[in-house]
Amino acid sequence: MTDSTMKTPAASAGATDDAELYLDAAATEPVSRDVIDAMLPFLTDAYANPASVHQPGKTAAHALDAARAAFAAGLGAKPDDVIFTSGGTESDNLAVKGIAMARMRRLGLRPVYDAAGEPDARRPRIVISAIEHPAVAQSADWLSHWFGFEVVRIPVDHEAHLDLDALARALDGEAGERTTLVSAMLANNEVGTIEPVERIVALAHAHGVPVHVDAVQAAGLIPVRMRDWDVDALSVSGHKFGTPKGLGALLVRGRTPIEPILSGGGQERGLRSGTQNVAGAVALAIALDGSNRRMAARYRQLVASRDMLIDAVRRVVPRAELTGDPERRLPGHASFIFPGVTGEALLVDLDARGIAASSGSACAIGRHEIPATLLAMGIEPQVAKSALRMTFREPLTREQIERISLAIEESYTDLTRR
Ligand code: PLP
Repeated sequence: MTDSTMKTPAASAGATDDAELYLDAAATEPVSRDVIDAMLPFLTDAYANPASVHQPGKTAAHALDAARAAFAAGLGAKPDDVIFTSGGTESDNLAVKGIAMARMRRLGLRPVYDAAGEPDARRPRIVISAIEHPAVAQSADWLSHWFGFEVVRIPVDHEAHLDLDALARALDGEAGERTTLVSAMLANNEVGTIEPVERIVALAHAHGVPVHVDAVQAAGLIPVRMRDWDVDALSVSGHKFGTPKGLGALLVRGRTPIEPILSGGGQERGLRSGTQNVAGAVALAIALDGSNRRMAARYRQLVASRDMLIDAVRRVVPRAELTGDPERRLPGHASFIFPGVTGEALLVDLDARGIAASSGSACAIGRHEIPATLLAMGIEPQVAKSALRMTFREPLTREQIERISLAIEESYTDLTRR
């Protein structure tokens, strides 16, 4: 462990000058004290299983109902829409696999175990955007691998906006009739671009196809109105807005055909078996409510400090290019490419200077992958490797922005000199 990893990263607001500055909110957020306090009674005194018929069980069930109602309201949904899960990955898997398989059967489509030489006439199909998180993209690949689904990836432009004309073409005619689901994200994790969900829904529904939206990066940061947007299923993950990790939900309308992917006791409308995590549900409700309140109060400041940071970075490294849409992007999201260096080297160097940022893609088990969204945006792999993402949920101070830009200037100069 290096010195810098032993220091506790300070949340961006209130960080003192020499504290590690945490700019990786899109990866995860700290759990706030009020969330912990709200959870505690359901881990200690009110610990009963909410499915139990005795009085302690009823107390737990009551808390679960209240959390479900508050959580649903915070996302523009109804309590019955909410299926509590273990996080974004599980929610995406349940939506993509569960809806695609249920619709395959309902539409009378046939799984294809060996696609070679098979006519496409009854082959099931799924349409996703080219910039989905692996939890969606690999779930679609799983459907292809096991059931011969045709997976259609809709391209994006150079700012990561979904190509709506391509989506319309993909849903047209005979192929549209074999389409079980459209899955698209609300806000991209790597470059922060916000997608036109309502237009995607209108296009898909015109062909009778349900829409799943991965709102993992958006919930708690920008308004999410599931029912107003007529979305069929929507995934969120608690640790992106202040719950402990391993908590999330799939919101799915009663009208949407969906099969569970876990078998068991039938909790959560039969869609997510397993004893419910009451303290976790309470955490989701309290953390979402806190984030939504802060959003209303601080949105403008967050956008102003993001734009100030973007300007400062461009000033100190004129070759740096902002990635994603400059305006229709998440409020606390600044992502760049820095031609001439690798994002990994920059990350490590910045970390040594007390700045905790990210490359924008999963650095899973030590692998530093090329950010897939940047490739889909048409950026050359060599350049895409130079990505750096800075994300924060509290507005940055002027001093913090100066500190970050100075560190980037020094790092970039050092690395390009080597
Ligand atoms: N979807 C998106 C867009 C994400 O950014 C992430 C995590 O970063 C996930 C899904 C997975 O969420 P979780 O970490 O809760 O499994």
